[in-house]
Amino acid sequence: MAGAKKENTLYALSRNSRCYGCDRALVVDDIVRLNKKQDESEVYCLNCSDLEDYVFLAKGNSNVTRLAKKYAQSPWVIMKWSEIWKTYERQGILVDQKAAARAKDEAGN
Ligand SMILES: [Zn+2]
Repeated sequence: MAGAKKENTLYALSRNSRCYGCDRALVVDDIVRLNKKQDESEVYCLNCSDLEDYVFLAKGNSNVTRLAKKYAQSPWVIMKWSEIWKTYERQGILVDQKAAARAKDEAGN
């Protein structure tokens, strides 16, 4: 399975919540990691997920997104539940700062 990077998923909150790890209050659009259990999901903030240094790149700039995914060690896809459409919608990606900076740099040229 050479080449293909596994796509990991994080979620943007569609309603206020609390971090299961540190009890921090979380608001709509905060990016969190979900630990899915049978009945409900445990919500973890980026700090508790060791992702506090990562940068969110909103969808819309496909050049930056493509480059950032290429350079990122482990890019995360951000999904958000839409009450209207009853489905998850892609919001953008989360990558390490280095990858984000390099991608923006290159896309700017
Ligand atoms: Zn936390």
